[in-house]
Amino acid sequence: MDHISEELQLTKGVRIVNAALKSKFYGEKYSGMTPPETIEQWESLPVLTRAEIFERSFPQSTDMLTQPVEDAIIISTGGSSGIARYTTYTHGEWDAFVECQAAAMKILGITREDRVANLFIAGHFWPSFLGLHDCIKKLGAVHLPISANIPIEEVVKLCQKFEPTVMVSLPTLFVFMADMARRDRFTFNRLRMINYAGEHLSSAAEAHVASALGVSRIKAGAYTSADAGIMGYQCEHSGPGVYHVPTAFQLVELINFEENRRARAGEPGEVVVTNLSRVSTPIIRYRVGDAASWTGATCSCGDRNPLLKLAGRAGQDFKLGGGFISLDVFENCIAAHPESLSLNFQLEIEDLAHQFQVVLRIEAPAQVAPPVLEALEKELFEAVPELRISSEKGYLRSFAIEIVELGQLPRSPITGKVAKLVDRRVM
Ligand SMILES: [Zn+2]
Repeated sequence: MDHISEELQLTKGVRIVNAALKSKFYGEKYSGMTPPETIEQWESLPVLTRAEIFERSFPQSTDMLTQPVEDAIIISTGGSSGIARYTTYTHGEWDAFVECQAAAMKILGITREDRVANLFIAGHFWPSFLGLHDCIKKLGAVHLPISANIPIEEVVKLCQKFEPTVMVSLPTLFVFMADMARRDRFTFNRLRMINYAGEHLSSAAEAHVASALGVSRIKAGAYTSADAGIMGYQCEHSGPGVYHVPTAFQLVELINFEENRRARAGEPGEVVVTNLSRVSTPIIRYRVGDAASWTGATCSCGDRNPLLKLAGRAGQDFKLGGGFISLDVFENCIAAHPESLSLNFQLEIEDLAHQFQVVLRIEAPAQVAPPVLEALEKELFEAVPELRISSEKGYLRSFAIEIVELGQLPRSPITGKVAKLVDRRVM
């Protein structure tokens, strides 16, 4: 992947700032400031918050735009958070974004020899299907635009007929397909690699997908933000959560906000990103909300782009009876019953006056014997002491495990994700 110096990044960043001043939003935000000339001055530019972007979503607002919307694509950036938000890319900016994504996929080992099954949902302005289409074209591989808009049985049939070597989709879909493969005993002859994006894939789910679909190479997609694009990519030497930063595409800073300075190597900081190619809707010093640290190491792959280690983007935590519980604890208990239970599940917590109730819905390939459910409940109450304590103190009204057929948990119609946690206490 291309590498550029910090000086060149600054030059490109300043070009974006100058363009941004044409927009109403940045014109006001930076009013009275002179464009930065040094890194120190750059670091004194106020950060862009998520709320500022949310409040200026296209088409309700054009305050962040520096030019008329033409020769452009509109994409959705917030499908699963409940409220759809949209943003604009010129076709040229979209192309730069895809170019960087394609380079990241090439580093993962996808080549011209591959047949890539595109198993994202298309439509609703959601960019994954279209973005992957363009990436595959840039890689010179063969594109199988099957999508996940059609019934899963049809997806399986088409994959068997066209024999992809690589499949790209969400973990929810791969877990579903692995459940079906185990139940219906099918395999994909030439499949050698799975590339997932959009959700966390636990190690239990990864092992399940690998064994049921008979594929050992399971790779996470790049570290991206819908608003800023790709911020990190993995190479053959990257450990979990470690990414090279594409310096030619993105200026990534790690800021220690408590002390209002750059984080030193090895020290945690918050990711602040500036997209160096996006002029029409500039994203300048955007505080993404992720914590990370620079490893300071030189990667043995030879790539000079610096290495960033992400902290805490993986699991989902929630509060229960005074403690913070990781959803992974539930997943690991369910994973102890691989013959009976899928890892596509949904935990729903609801308030009832001064009590709460918990329902755990799990997909399963067949009827589940009562002893399995009894064992699971016992294991969960052992693994999550807050459940037991809340029950003893009378805060937990009820705890139920419900089994549903494969594919029957509600999916987002836009992305296809299953919400693993539905916390009605905070909604
Ligand atoms: Zn590397």
